[in-house]
Amino acid sequence: MARVTLEKVSKLYAGNPVPAVNAIDLDIQDREFIVLVGPSGCGKSTTLRMVAGLEEISGGEIKIGERVVNAVPPKDRDIAMVFQNYALYPHMSVYKNMAFGLQLRRKELGLSRQQIHERVLEAARILGITDYLERKPKALSGGQRQRVAVGRAIVRNPKAFLFDEPLSNLDAKLRVETRAEIKKLHLRLQTTTIYVTHDQEEAMTLGDRIVVMKDGFIQQCAPPLEVYERPVNKFVAGFVGTPPMNFIKCKVEGKTLAFGGQRIGLAGQHPGKVIKYAGQEVFLGIRPESLCPKNAGKFAGTENGISAKVVVVEPLGDKVDIYLTLGDNHADYMERLLVCRADAYEFGRIKANDIITLYVDLSRVHVFEPGDNGMNVTLSQETGYATA
Ligand code: ADP
Repeated sequence: MARVTLEKVSKLYAGNPVPAVNAIDLDIQDREFIVLVGPSGCGKSTTLRMVAGLEEISGGEIKIGERVVNAVPPKDRDIAMVFQNYALYPHMSVYKNMAFGLQLRRKELGLSRQQIHERVLEAARILGITDYLERKPKALSGGQRQRVAVGRAIVRNPKAFLFDEPLSNLDAKLRVETRAEIKKLHLRLQTTTIYVTHDQEEAMTLGDRIVVMKDGFIQQCAPPLEVYERPVNKFVAGFVGTPPMNFIKCKVEGKTLAFGGQRIGLAGQHPGKVIKYAGQEVFLGIRPESLCPKNAGKFAGTENGISAKVVVVEPLGDKVDIYLTLGDNHADYMERLLVCRADAYEFGRIKANDIITLYVDLSRVHVFEPGDNGMNVTLSQETGYATA
């Protein structure tokens, strides 16, 4: 087990002037489960591959444990990587697939045949694949193959596990199941883990902390709920959460945010921080569950209603997602439809073309500066969050 640290780590690929990874700092604690998440091309795989030693670094320093590994070949880094495409040997049994890497380096690793045998059996037991040990990979389901790939990582008893989108090839149900198994495995083995995914839900459910990346930069690194509740900028706010946060382009007018003939009071949102943007354009960020078709409970208030017309209602079981438009000029204020996630039993009768008022939980909204990476101006300044 080990702490893994990245200091000002960069990657420049030949022929591309824009760094794929741009001087990132990351301090991963021993036993921690860290998830790198972000849209395609943000640099997460490159980061993982640099830790693994599969990609040379262009600048900075990577440490595994207390050892600088910049020049250490992958096989000597004492890490184990699990890929999306399993990379199992098709002609070998499950047992052999798991044992092979250790057998190859048995003397170098100082292991006896018996010790390797025991490690394979123990990993198989942990993963519930003991019954398949004699099968070839082609006789296994996708989920079982992925377990063998994980088993091959476990038997090495590495300082850290690196996972590169390991669940992408599985169907939705299996993905959720396997995700829970990976979490269970981590609780049990407590091995430092770096996990790459583009799926924000996977990141939220797995990570002790999640690292949201964009364009080679770390945007925010924090526990999942903190990222959800206190996103540092508009990009992070919009990336984490489904359906995504609503952003309404507004003008700051006194202690209100005005858009399309409507206005929302600033009561719950640190008016002092927002008022200094008087006369300027900002984005009001409201999560779908911070809107409710009833002025009651935590949605009770004044100057907190938005009138909108229902376009589509999506039933989800106990909840409904209600998609709405702010009217003829909707596109002037919003890029997408406004969405409200409401209780299905109470609001299930709302239907397309209804004109309703949505009430905002003003204690949970955010205000962002303009631009894709617009800073969250409602976060308290004292937190010292980076706003790259
Ligand atoms: P992610 O894993 O977040 O999808 P990657 O780390 O794979 O992103 O890629 C980051 C950026 O580096 C992308 O712009 C990608 O096109 C570029 N890139 C990745 N691999 C190479 C390569 N071998 N050569 C040149 N550019 C690459």
